[in-house]
Amino acid sequence: MIDLSVKNIKGVGAKTAEYLEKLDIKTVKDLLKHYPIRYLEYKAPTKISEVNKDEEVVIKATITKNISLTGPNRKIAATKITDYIDLIDVIWYNSSYLRATLKQGESYIFVGKFSRRSKNTLEHPTVYTIDEYEKKIGSFKPVYALTAGINNNAMEKLIKSAFEYTDDKDFEEYLPESIRKEFSLKDRNKAIRNIHDPISKSSLFESKKRLAFDDFFRFLYGMKLLKNKRLRVKSKNIVSKEIKYLEEIKSTLPFKLTDSQNNVIEEILNDMSSGVVTNRLIQGDVGSGKTVVALICLYMAVKSGFQGVVMVPTEVLAKQHFKSMSETLGKLKNPPKIGILTGSMTKKEHLAVYEKMEAGEIDIVVGTHALLVEDVKFKNLGLVVTDEQHRFGVRQRTTLSDKGEDVHVLVMSATPIPRTLAIILYGDLDISTIETKPVGRLPIKNAVITENDREKAYRHISLEIGKGHQAYIICPMVEESENIEAENVIEYSKKIEDKFSQNCKIEVLHGRLQQKEKDDIMSRYINKEIDILVSTTVIEVGVDVPNATVIMIENAERFGLATLHQLRGRVGRSELQSYAIFVRTSNSNIAKKRLEIIGNSNDGFYIASRDLVLRGPGELFGLAQSGELDFGIADIYNDNDIFEMAKNAVDMVQSENIGEEESKKLEERINNYMDLHYKKLAL
Ligand code: ADP
Ligand code: MG
Repeated sequence: MIDLSVKNIKGVGAKTAEYLEKLDIKTVKDLLKHYPIRYLEYKAPTKISEVNKDEEVVIKATITKNISLTGPNRKIAATKITDYIDLIDVIWYNSSYLRATLKQGESYIFVGKFSRRSKNTLEHPTVYTIDEYEKKIGSFKPVYALTAGINNNAMEKLIKSAFEYTDDKDFEEYLPESIRKEFSLKDRNKAIRNIHDPISKSSLFESKKRLAFDDFFRFLYGMKLLKNKRLRVKSKNIVSKEIKYLEEIKSTLPFKLTDSQNNVIEEILNDMSSGVVTNRLIQGDVGSGKTVVALICLYMAVKSGFQGVVMVPTEVLAKQHFKSMSETLGKLKNPPKIGILTGSMTKKEHLAVYEKMEAGEIDIVVGTHALLVEDVKFKNLGLVVTDEQHRFGVRQRTTLSDKGEDVHVLVMSATPIPRTLAIILYGDLDISTIETKPVGRLPIKNAVITENDREKAYRHISLEIGKGHQAYIICPMVEESENIEAENVIEYSKKIEDKFSQNCKIEVLHGRLQQKEKDDIMSRYINKEIDILVSTTVIEVGVDVPNATVIMIENAERFGLATLHQLRGRVGRSELQSYAIFVRTSNSNIAKKRLEIIGNSNDGFYIASRDLVLRGPGELFGLAQSGELDFGIADIYNDNDIFEMAKNAVDMVQSENIGEEESKKLEERINNYMDLHYKKLAL
């Protein structure tokens, strides 16, 4: 019955059904899952003289005058009430019917707010009889997300009626008894009823805990099932971890790998040689040296007869990886053949690359989204690497790996994310972390300055350029338009010309430039033909010019902390001392606070955790509007302890023998759930 359309509910006509649909409520079940967004407490009434007129008040008072109808079309009902100390006005909109129900001389409970225009007028309060209200004192009133046509009281009533169309089987318990005991979980059926009709704070807490637990548990269990399934798949794709080849490629590098890098490479090679399909996330802060880890793995795959591919989110990055990988591989006696595929290449060029890839004449290809088209085929794809994974979606991860059989997948990301989110986004992956940066790196020196200190900043940049180093200046972000952004950059670079010596070469980089121009500028910057690059955030991720030692970020408060950290990561990529200058142009507290955090720490994980606190859930990671992290009642940012509980519960179910029947029942439920929700949740 729970899947019945809402239209079957008594009192729901076509109109109401239509309104409900706006809230994505189509069935009885949807209605029951329309959980309250918050609760109001039924508080004990207070004297008028004691209330705070800016807040919702509860007043017990007597009506002193029959209700009159006033205003245009006589649609406003008005009267006066008194608690025998004060006398105040009350009005209701569109409520002429009250004339028949509220009587002069009778006492009622009024719950509402005072008008902002007149502090002596209670505006559109809800009215209760004293008996009715007294029964409710101490309990809670659910507050729902609404849409035009349905007010909160109507929603409450609808949900109450919806329960009449269910029976206990609809919320059948699926958790094994042992799990419920271990984590003190309330009965599911009771929890769902109680969440809409809470009788006390503690019962509400328990119900919310149970439902949030369910959200997390089913998701995590589902992820586990997926992962187990993957691990059971035997792969023919076996990459050798032959020391000879490893030594060979390492010997071409101008540096020694860090222990961290070596460990991660070993983890990956163990995976890829083990006969199961690898799915691994490589996490490492900006500048920790992820690219070379990817290159070595690709080389090992090629040595085992496979082709490999690296996908990156921008053309600038594709060119950079192509260049650096070509250089490194070029030092080998028998170098693999490497190709590039990006959107700005001509059709003819594309076709030529496709052909070579399919014929197996290219061993490693670096590219952008252009790799995802159907025409891209491989002879024998063995390894897919996605760099800056947070810029892509999971589906794109699979589109590429679908171009081969049992393809190993590595995804790399510098965006440090809190543990909960990492498990949610990458829960089906194994995780390796590059813990440390290459030796000899000096911590970046940070300065947060105000506009008054710009001149000083320019002088500092001049000093660095005098030493033969290079600089970035990032111009303010303009959300609305790339055109305005481009103008900004150009104007800014003109304005600063006379701040620097004549032979200081300044150029601009922005999204409106042709790809060829961008490439040209980047390669001249890499070749030190440009001293200062005035740029938009097009250089935000991945760009690697070790000789750049200073980055100045204008209007820094406009950027999120994660972006600022990524931008700062453009410097500090060599043994040279590097500097980050953040220009604060707002005096707001939040601006100050945000920049204080970035100015005082170079630690990406710390910054991400602070960002979470400051900016709140969704905005971070650009997931705000996507609704993809919609867990119903559970809040991935604030319900950490419930999340951990659910995670432990999944481990418990897996390790303990809960009996074949229980376990089958559970898997069935979870699989159903995954069918419904996983697609939505997997980014
Ligand atoms: P990210 O992890 O941000 O992608 P990159 O792979 O771009 O970092 O590496 C940053 C810089 O550090 C590059 O110039 C790279 O050549 C250099 N690098 C990488 N590993 C080492 C190492 N072990 N020792 C010294 N420099 C290294
Ligand atoms: Mg990188």
